[in-house]
Amino acid sequence: MLRGSCLCGGVAYRVDGPVHHASHCYCTMCQKQHGAGAGSYANVDSAAYAVERGQELVVEYASSEHGRRGFCRVCGSTLTWRSTESPETIAVTLGTLEPLYDGPVERELYIETKPAWLPVR
Ligand SMILES: [Zn+2]
Ligand SMILES: [Zn+2]
Repeated sequence: MLRGSCLCGGVAYRVDGPVHHASHCYCTMCQKQHGAGAGSYANVDSAAYAVERGQELVVEYASSEHGRRGFCRVCGSTLTWRSTESPETIAVTLGTLEPLYDGPVERELYIETKPAWLPVR
């Protein structure tokens, strides 16, 4: 079981299932929305994802025809990414997980737009 919450604590969620994979996405939309070098996600089953508190605070922004980016309207924490083309899965943001995510990150996406200012590995 994974648990997570937003910065203000208004939204809390849980995931009752495994992480299929985790990723850092360097696409320019993730950079903009996260205000950071990447969006970092754990992909899980949509059926395993549940908002336990603050559903009314969650807003989804349609960043493309199929992409939906969930965030807290009070504090702005990015919470989820999903595609209407693959409703069986949802991605939760690694940075909102509590305790800290300690699993592997297997994928890097859109490395062609990975910022040069990110720390060297
Ligand atoms: Zn919040
Ligand atoms: Zn992205």
